Parts: sequence; C-alpha cells; structure tokens
Amino acid sequence: MTALRSALEEKVVARIRDRRDELVALVGELVACDTTSRNYNEPARDEEKLQTILARRLGALGAETDLWVPEPVREGHRNLPPGMRFDGRPQLAAHVAGGAGGRSLLLNGHIDAVDVEPRADWTSDPLVATARDGRLYGRGVNDMKGGIACLVTALEVLREEGVRLGGDVVFCTVTDEEMGGAGGFAAVEHGVRADAGICAEPSALNVEAACRGGLPITVTALGRTGHAELAHPDWREGGPVNAIEKLLPVLLEVQRMREDWRTRPDHQHPLLPPGDIVPTIIAGGTWVVTIPHECTVTLDVTYLPGHLDAEGTGRAVEREITDRLRAAVADDPWFDEHPLRIEFIQDVVPAEVPADHEIVQLALGAAGDLGHDPRVTGLDTWHDAATFTRFGTPTVSFGPDCENSHAVDESVSIDSLVDCAAAVALIAMRWCGVRGQT
Ligand SMILES: [Zn+2]
Repeated sequence: MTALRSALEEKVVARIRDRRDELVALVGELVACDTTSRNYNEPARDEEKLQTILARRLGALGAETDLWVPEPVREGHRNLPPGMRFDGRPQLAAHVAGGAGGRSLLLNGHIDAVDVEPRADWTSDPLVATARDGRLYGRGVNDMKGGIACLVTALEVLREEGVRLGGDVVFCTVTDEEMGGAGGFAAVEHGVRADAGICAEPSALNVEAACRGGLPITVTALGRTGHAELAHPDWREGGPVNAIEKLLPVLLEVQRMREDWRTRPDHQHPLLPPGDIVPTIIAGGTWVVTIPHECTVTLDVTYLPGHLDAEGTGRAVEREITDRLRAAVADDPWFDEHPLRIEFIQDVVPAEVPADHEIVQLALGAAGDLGHDPRVTGLDTWHDAATFTRFGTPTVSFGPDCENSHAVDESVSIDSLVDCAAAVALIAMRWCGVRGQT
C-alpha cells in the first residue's frame, strides 16, 4: 500500500520498481570490483575502477563530476592516521544541479567493503552478486554497494522522468569508511556539503540519527627481561619484572570502567547504548622461558555525542581513561620510573541529528508512504554520516535491510533495495522541492 502525494511521485516509484533488474545488475557491477578495506598504505585495488563506473553514470545524467585523490594525511591530524595516503583510491563528488534557491541534498556511500574471509565458507563467490530466493548475496551487497546502487537508481529515474529538483544534489562516494572514515573526512575537507544528507548504509529503512564515536587506545606496561625458572634478586636490585603481570591492574581497572559506564548518567542516551571500553588485542613476551619485558593491550573505546568537548573532540574521555589507568598503578613504585605508555590512535567522532529534524521526518515519511513502519534508531558503531553532520551537513543513515554484514553470506533483500531507491527519490523530491518536469 502506498500513500504518495502526487501523480509524479507515483510515476517515479513505478518506474523504479520497473528497473529492479537494472538495479540488481548495478549492485553486481560494484560487487565485482575488489575494494576490500586494508591496512593504511597497502596498495590500491579496484577503487578507481569503481569510482569511474559511478562517475560515468552520474556524468551521463549531466552531473559535474569531481574525482580526486586527496593529499596524504598531515602530521598531527587527530581524526586520521598521519601519513596515510590515498594513491589509487580517489573520492568522487558529482553535483547534479537543481533550480536556484532550493535546498541541497547530499547522497553518500562508502565503496570499501570488509574482506571475504573465510572465503571457502561462502555459499557462492562473494565477488559475484548472486540472487537466491529474493535476496542478493555477495560482499558489500548491503554494506554498502547495494545502497550506493539505490542512490544512483533514484537519480537516474528522476532524470528519466524529467523531474527538475528545486535544489542541487551532491552524490559523494568515498573510500576507507571501514578503517575510521578517512574518505569521508577527505570529502568534507574538499568542501563537500549540502543542507542535509542521506548515507545509504543498511538500516532496514529505519533512520539512524545518532552513532557512538570510537577512540582506539594502546596501553603498554614495561618490564625487565630475565630467565624464567631461575631465582633472581628483587627488581630494585636489578631483578627481572614481568610486563604481563604489570598489566593486570590495568585490565582490572578497564573492567571496572566498563561496569561504571553502564549505569553512569553521562553514558545514557535515548538511541544508543552506553560507551564501552573493551580489551581486543593483547601482545607480550618473546619466549616461553623468558620474563616478558613489554606487554601491550589494545582497547576499543566507544563514547557518546554528549562526551564531545567544546572543540568537538573526545579529549574528556581520553583524560578519564588516562587518569584512571595511571591511578590504578599508582601504588606500584615500578611505574614511577617506567610509566605506563598510553597512546590514543585516532578520534572517530560521534554525532547525532535531532529526531525532529526535517530530514529525519522526511526519511520516515518516505519509508512509511511505501508501506514500511520505520523508526528513528541509533547506530551502536560508527558511520560516515557523523563526519558530514559534524561539518555542517546534518546526515542520517537510511538504506536497505541487511543480513550478515561483515560476515559470510552477506545478503540484502531485493525488495528492500527497490524500496530504498524509491524512498531516496521521494526524499530528494520532498527535500529539494520539484520545479516541474522537462
Ligand atoms: Zn558501512
């Protein structure tokens, strides 16, 4: 059942439904490009090829396309790893001009996808989008090459139906979302912005209006090496010190902090779970009969939009963690001369768009008019929408359904792809306004 507002909206939605097979084919073309996320500065794969496919499609609509390779990340960048390069991994911004004076809309997606391992466990080749029982399977079909194909389809159908929007649409696809959002950051530094934005991350046509931030940290305890199994003098007289054991009070304090954050008022949010601090990697020791001289734990820290300071950083969270971990070892004189090494790797900043913002309400309305029952939700992890929101473009995630994101047999329902494309077309018409048909 649909409740569309005009004959033109009916026509656009019907046309998108007719284009189901072409939409699926475009997802397949994007999935076939290997754009696996990698560690920083590993060589590029098919990122340029994929962005060029999109640039051509957008160019054919008369969009002014800008495909650029950002400068390497400058030293001292708080949000991105300094020295990170983008060689072979361009970003794309395509401007579809609308009438003067109307509101502009950003349509965003990330082209990187996580790796396909364990590849042997997939039912079908993860780089060949394969339809079975109304669903499409393949790496990135929901996160988020499917969503990108929906954005392209929406714009193509608006063009085919001669819809003249009252404001510009900025289509922007970026790299490196899965690694902390470097492409999205590069896009805002390049000047990509609009009056509001839709990021087509999979959301089952719900509106994800808030997300947590991330603050990965490594904490290293130093020790002093020596032969295990032998008697040694006290450490004050030069004896060995076990760095793995020195990290124990740190791990216990991390556990206490997690418990504390679960109930502390500043960690409560209507759409998001409390912040969290989780040990995810531990490394120490070199040999089975050698006292380890160093042990490092990596902590995955998440925090809420309310924790941002006046400059929009997570420094207050950093300070709390630093103070508590140092206090946890303060009684141990070893640390006076060998202090804990606490290193903050990257501040991936959270953001939220108020639930009563018009872009949130328009997205809800569009999905509702197509027969869905959408909700405003939060995203427990992070998305590029946060970066655009933070730099002046209130952006929500709104995309198709998803199953097994980042896992074996990732899939998306084809119906939800079609409805997502239709909803995006409706949002564009309602946000930018329609100045007539050509
Ligand atoms: Zn994603």
